[in-house]
Amino acid sequence: MVSAAASLADPHVERATAAAGEDPESTRLGPPAVVYSHDDMGSPEASAGNGSDGVAPVVQRVPDERSHDLKLGEEIAMRIERDIVARGWPVGELFATEAELLETYGVSRGVLREAIRLLEHHRVARSRRGRGGGLMVTEPDSYSAVRSLALLLQYQGASIADLFEARKSIEVTAVELAASRIDPAGAARLREAVSSEQQYADDLERRQVGGPRSPGFHDVHVLIAELSGNPMIRLFGDVSARMFSDLLFTWAAGHGAEEIRDASAEGSHVHERIVEAIIAGDAEVARRRMLRHLDAQERFFLSADWSRFESWLPLSEVRTAR
Ligand SMILES: [Zn+2]
Repeated sequence: MVSAAASLADPHVERATAAAGEDPESTRLGPPAVVYSHDDMGSPEASAGNGSDGVAPVVQRVPDERSHDLKLGEEIAMRIERDIVARGWPVGELFATEAELLETYGVSRGVLREAIRLLEHHRVARSRRGRGGGLMVTEPDSYSAVRSLALLLQYQGASIADLFEARKSIEVTAVELAASRIDPAGAARLREAVSSEQQYADDLERRQVGGPRSPGFHDVHVLIAELSGNPMIRLFGDVSARMFSDLLFTWAAGHGAEEIRDASAEGSHVHERIVEAIIAGDAEVARRRMLRHLDAQERFFLSADWSRFESWLPLSEVRTAR
């Protein structure tokens, strides 16, 4: 069966599930007539037959080659991903030539093309043409994942309150872990991030230029998530930082340079205090300072006037009952 988690992860699976749900047979209890499975690697058509009871189906299922290629392509992409992981994710190496892929996975060119399209989209591999060409293993980057997750949350109507509730869970854990795992290299990076933020606030004061989208802004939160040493906390920290910076950008668009400057200066001072506690290895103090920082930000953004920016706002202003 297609799990809820799988359909969250990939819209293609969701479409496949929705298509199965359209089948009149699926209104009865039990699984829909067509189940596209990722758990077993069987062919999707294997479970498609439903005429065995002698009653002609109300809607004749016309085999759609294109949609078949899409589904099978997805399955092949997952198998290739698994095989890339099994080989230790050899970035920059040739995984296989096209001929080898067609042979190994026993699919048509159309299906393989679809699988490669997905692998490229997921930043797992890319195809290289010409001599020595084939499927090359690439290094996945978190940017596209973070962007998709932020958009998904926006689509789902996540609110400002949701963002801060999540940040207070993710980032408080991150800061505690960072304080307990800090090493000299991490400490140096934190110091550098804080000083570049202060530099940014000073620049704003002198020249009144820039905006919260300038590179380096809000790097401290992202860096703390990274220094937690937990890749999942790092990813979720990246997502919440991305959503927060979208919110901040929207707010800044409606405010004067002076207000932005004050907020930046205050932020970098608070960050400095948090970073001091992390470098001192004091998880408890770091935790308390981070929580206080996020509480203050939450109050600020919840009480801000968004009336002129409603259509821009990346998050709902009020928590919608779910
Ligand atoms: Zn901050």
